[in-house]
Amino acid sequence: MITLETRLDGVVGSGAKALDKAFGLRTVGDLLRHYPRRMAERGELTDLAALRLDEDVTVLAEVKSVRTAGQPGRGHTSQRLVVTVGDGNGTLDLVFFGRRNLWRAKDLVAGMRGVFSGKVGEFRGRRQLAHPDYILLRGDGSSNAADPDRVLDRLEADDYAGKLIPVYPATKDVRPWMIGNAIRHVLAVLDPQPDPVPDEVRLRRGLLDFDTALRAMHEPDSQQQWRDARQRLAWDEALGVQLALAQRRAASARNPATARPPHAAGMAAAFDARLPFELTAGQQDIGAVISAELAREHPMHRLLQGEVGSGKTVVALRAMLQVVDAGGQAALLAPTEVLAQQHARSIELMLGPLARAGQLGAPDGAATRVALLTGSMPTPARKAALLDAASGAAGIVIGTHALIQEHVSFADLGLVVVDEQHRFGVEQRDALRNKASRPPHLLVMTATPIPRTVAMTVFGDLETSTLAELPAGRQPIATTVVPVIERPGWLDRGWQRIREEVEHGHQAYVVCPRIGDGTDSGADRAADGAAPEVESDLDSDLAPAYDDSTPEDTGASVARPSYDVISTAEMLRTGALAGLRLATLHGRLPTDEKEHAMIDFAARRIDVLVSTTVIEVGVDVPNAVVMVVLDADRFGISQLHQLRGRVGRGDRAGICLLVTSAGVGSPARERLDAVAATNDGFELARLDVEQRREGDVLGVAQSGARSTLRLLSLRRDEELITAAREEASELAAGDPDLTRHPLLARQVAELVAAEQAEYLEKA
Ligand code: ADP
Ligand code: MG
Repeated sequence: MITLETRLDGVVGSGAKALDKAFGLRTVGDLLRHYPRRMAERGELTDLAALRLDEDVTVLAEVKSVRTAGQPGRGHTSQRLVVTVGDGNGTLDLVFFGRRNLWRAKDLVAGMRGVFSGKVGEFRGRRQLAHPDYILLRGDGSSNAADPDRVLDRLEADDYAGKLIPVYPATKDVRPWMIGNAIRHVLAVLDPQPDPVPDEVRLRRGLLDFDTALRAMHEPDSQQQWRDARQRLAWDEALGVQLALAQRRAASARNPATARPPHAAGMAAAFDARLPFELTAGQQDIGAVISAELAREHPMHRLLQGEVGSGKTVVALRAMLQVVDAGGQAALLAPTEVLAQQHARSIELMLGPLARAGQLGAPDGAATRVALLTGSMPTPARKAALLDAASGAAGIVIGTHALIQEHVSFADLGLVVVDEQHRFGVEQRDALRNKASRPPHLLVMTATPIPRTVAMTVFGDLETSTLAELPAGRQPIATTVVPVIERPGWLDRGWQRIREEVEHGHQAYVVCPRIGDGTDSGADRAADGAAPEVESDLDSDLAPAYDDSTPEDTGASVARPSYDVISTAEMLRTGALAGLRLATLHGRLPTDEKEHAMIDFAARRIDVLVSTTVIEVGVDVPNAVVMVVLDADRFGISQLHQLRGRVGRGDRAGICLLVTSAGVGSPARERLDAVAATNDGFELARLDVEQRREGDVLGVAQSGARSTLRLLSLRRDEELITAAREEASELAAGDPDLTRHPLLARQVAELVAAEQAEYLEKA
């Protein structure tokens, strides 16, 4: 009997090896979840003469000629394979970039007919498809179907006569027709599959049954049936995620937590009395919700989202003090060392005498201590911090990933606050929470507004609060795109503007995408030693949020290296900003130098800070009013929004200049124009989600996303996710282990296991 668990080698012969190697497909189920990207329809193929730019098309055509272009060794995408195809009505180029794609010339030989799918682009006036999916139709009758090892070798043109043609992504070793053949072969022998989703859910939601959907995904009778099959299988993905989350919620609701009720005469109250400003209504309301949740005997799980500068730290600090008042400790987890240091400094400053327990001048009443712990601290300071955490002398412990490490222990950890959540995965949250004998309360903060679908999936185990307003008197930020190619003079005006602001006693940031110390490579990831800071991960030195060297651009790409911190600082020192006090800041500086740069900048001993994105999150120097972002097109929308949030924090309006050499109309330029056009973070988050790939939406740290969510789109499937969430809550209510639905329980368990496996692989 052949089921989804049957190993492929017994079914498709020696082709199984190639499928495993290329895509990790080992079982029948793996193979059948290798879905086609499109269904090409022979009758409705697009006429080559009528192609419109940016349109997604599928064309049936014959290969006319093949050539390689570009030179090897000039950037990894400069060499390319250009295949010209024609349909008698016109011609079109297929372009495959990179040496690793040259193998395709072996398949795409003149005379071969195939179906090609992709988005229509243009290069030097010619229409092209960059990296199209394709399937070649071989009609030479040379296959030998009797030989099982040859089953995958040929696609007969007649096999698809008049039918829909599934278009699968291919690789060097798994040729386009192999996958299709393997799947058709497998479907022919597969026994009918039981449906894990209960009938009543299926009927209520009008879904195809599982067996039909699985088959129709590859061999549909019509485009409509294919869409229904996709819908059904996407539903399964959404339901799986939502059930896993429902189980998490149920498990944590069963968890006991220590109640940390407020104390009328505690530090929290003393802190409120000391505050130099009025809390905004939002800060008060959310504060009350959090306070009540901390007082309960089940762990709080709350996500606090709020615009850059909306005052999340104060909200968190008040929660931390309530916990300390009640005899517990609070840990604050920051994504970068710079931010951890700054939090420690500013929290100590805000607490004043309340943070000086055991020191001269401490108040008679309650006081505590703040400990800072990061990966690259000198040993004595580290030991002291570890001791303060373990003994309970420090009520508040602030740190980076180092806090998650095994040897850090707490006397009584009552609350975990995670700042700038998007950089931490669920498992990291858990690792820290596991440091408490009973599950602590959890508050997660993010300044990147989270679209609803992402909130429901990635953060689906958290309740959400939103700080909608900014504190009164906040100034807007004026953002301008500076296109250096069209307006070469504008950048000089920008530097001039910095000089003027500095003359008025203000300060400025200059942000570059790279460090430029010759180490701008993957090695930078471990910049902070044993416990790599996520910061270096996000320095776009390594992984630009956007690599727009898409095929269309590359043909004309200029080889100008991007701006880097070290040479830009040098250039400014001796040029446009000569005479001003400049300092540099980036992830590879030793800890104390980083700290000094920030302290000196905050104390106005530095006029201009030239840095990487280490200043992206949370850095708070209200006197800084100008920011120049060089090669701004290398950064993502949310990242730019975060970055510019560093200026305009005081009583003076902020200015942000986005410097770019991206041309008018390019995707990069459109992104920058969008950022310049609005200060509304939610609007930008929506745009961001639309523009990025799914995996990026979920974030690298959000494990499992790539392998388990194949069809589900956080962009398009809001309705479906909402519906699946409802059904999941209902199914899990009263039966969180899904004992009444064993097939479903197994599916969810597999999904959770896959996520964990992926996490472990990365760790
Ligand atoms: P974010 O939400 O971006 O983390 P912060 O907590 O860093 O924002 O707050 C930004 C700045 O606003 C800080 O200097 C903070 O002290 C100040 N702030 C916070 N709440 C208020 C308020 N209610 N009124 C005035 N200033 C505030
Ligand atoms: Mg903050």
